[in-house]
Amino acid sequence: MDKYRIRQGEELDVRKLDPDDHSAWEGSKEEGKQRLVELRKELASLQELLYAEGKHRVLVVLQAMDTGGKDGTIRSVFEGVNPQGVRVASFKAPTPIELAHDYLWRIHPQVPGKGELVVFNRSHYEDVLVVRVHNLVPKAVWRRRYRHIVDFERMLADEGVTILKFYLHISADEQKKRLLERIEKPEKRWKFNPGDLEERKLWDNYMAAYSDALRRTSTKFAPWYAVPANSNWYRNLVVLSVLVDTLRKLKMKYPSPVENITQYRPALGGKDGEAEPDQPDREA
Ligand code: ATP
Ligand code: MG
Repeated sequence: MDKYRIRQGEELDVRKLDPDDHSAWEGSKEEGKQRLVELRKELASLQELLYAEGKHRVLVVLQAMDTGGKDGTIRSVFEGVNPQGVRVASFKAPTPIELAHDYLWRIHPQVPGKGELVVFNRSHYEDVLVVRVHNLVPKAVWRRRYRHIVDFERMLADEGVTILKFYLHISADEQKKRLLERIEKPEKRWKFNPGDLEERKLWDNYMAAYSDALRRTSTKFAPWYAVPANSNWYRNLVVLSVLVDTLRKLKMKYPSPVENITQYRPALGGKDGEAEPDQPDREA
């Protein structure tokens, strides 16, 4: 899945990326879905270990155009995790109090603490995306934010936060299809927002803003992945694979149990002198 990682500074035009690409998976769609089931199980045990160890902090940033699949990704990828220890933070248009502060002010309190995994549904990147496209601040102001953001994420990484960022890439045609579905399918109507049609007119401006944001802020310590997202199953497979791979590399361990743990058996009516219980896999 490394092929989807953006390298800092590289020339990038996200419009040239194929949102229908499936080339990192050799099997069929059915096999891909089967793999998703396995990966979810693995994520569940890794997340349990993350929580138990209480050492690492994990931040997953999701960005996409409207209907790009942020909600679906969260639902599918995190289906099996323990809600205790996992949190989603959604960033909408800023409130007056948020606007009265610097743009990272509302972000920082939401970053994960030890043992926690936090998903950002939109993020500080809106401040170089929608803000740029709508000229909400002058160019000189949003331009310097790339540097702030890299520095902010470097600080988080230095302090022990593992950061993964996913841009879910759909085509304008796919968005059209999904917006129409929100009109045609009664159970999807609640999601239809006429404002999305206005944003859609600015598609190319958004693509330019995404291209710049991704190439300027994809670092070793906080990489961006541009995920082909026209097919939900493939999008989920890419995100889940990268996440599981990254968590595996943390080499997490369960904390050591209290010394001589079996001595406490008699106090609970159990028998003393029996074999040690099996230790869980120390490295999942
Ligand atoms: P859905 O996909 O379900 O519609 P959503 O993330 O689009 O979810 P909405 O409430 O529809 O949620 O939209 C949130 C809006 O807030 C987006 O249009 C986004 O661009 C905007 N927004 C987020 N952060 C900022 C920001 N810092 N400045 C201005 N607008 C922002
Ligand atoms: Mg929306």
